[in-house]
Amino acid sequence: MKRLFLDICFPARCLCCGKVLPFAHRNDFFCKRCAEKHLFRTGEHICSICGANVYNGNCLRCKEMKFSFSRSISALPYGCTRHTIHRFKYTGYDKKGIRLGHLMAYYLKTYHADLLLEVDAVTSVPLHPKKLRKRGFDQVRILAETVAEELNLPYMSNLLYRTRHTIAQSKLGGAARRSNLADAFAAVVPFPETAKGKTILLLDDIFTTGTTFEECTKVLLAAGVKEVIPFALATASPHED
Ligand SMILES: [Zn+2]
Ligand SMILES: [Zn+2]
Repeated sequence: MKRLFLDICFPARCLCCGKVLPFAHRNDFFCKRCAEKHLFRTGEHICSICGANVYNGNCLRCKEMKFSFSRSISALPYGCTRHTIHRFKYTGYDKKGIRLGHLMAYYLKTYHADLLLEVDAVTSVPLHPKKLRKRGFDQVRILAETVAEELNLPYMSNLLYRTRHTIAQSKLGGAARRSNLADAFAAVVPFPETAKGKTILLLDDIFTTGTTFEECTKVLLAAGVKEVIPFALATASPHED
């Protein structure tokens, strides 16, 4: 009854365009029109490192950056989810976060089942405690916990922490982003033995330049993790930056 009441007062919306979904389709991720656009990033015309659109091979950004991870995945193009992610981040709406987490788990199971077999645990890019106090919740943690639960994997919340407050990456250009995040993350000491030698799926909401993923990956590998596979809800193609 409570569920029905919530569904009527807060109808489910398309996670791309925000249109209210018909009641019978309230568990779908997208409205009919958006579903027809085949939004999930898959196929040969995406960069195998970051998921951006390419004709073939890897995009310029990944060729230039030389990441410490050899593969990463993103479920959707950023342009489509821009408004949903923004609303989720700044309005503190948990239900939306959980649906986005379900979407990420679905994407992984459907398009990367082989990769999933290699993953031992899930973790997330940490939020600075100051930001957490201000916002009241950690949006990436909600995504990561939902993904871990759906995939029956352990969620490790305590592998990384932020050493200092950083400026929002979205306010900076490429080079400034890198110096903004240099040494901004550290591994917890002592580092959990259960994470050493393991393959860890590292979640964030948006892959923009890859700097955040790169910094976190370096730290986790140095702490003894075998492989880090970054997984973003959405990726911005280099020209969208
Ligand atoms: Zn739609
Ligand atoms: Zn790329």
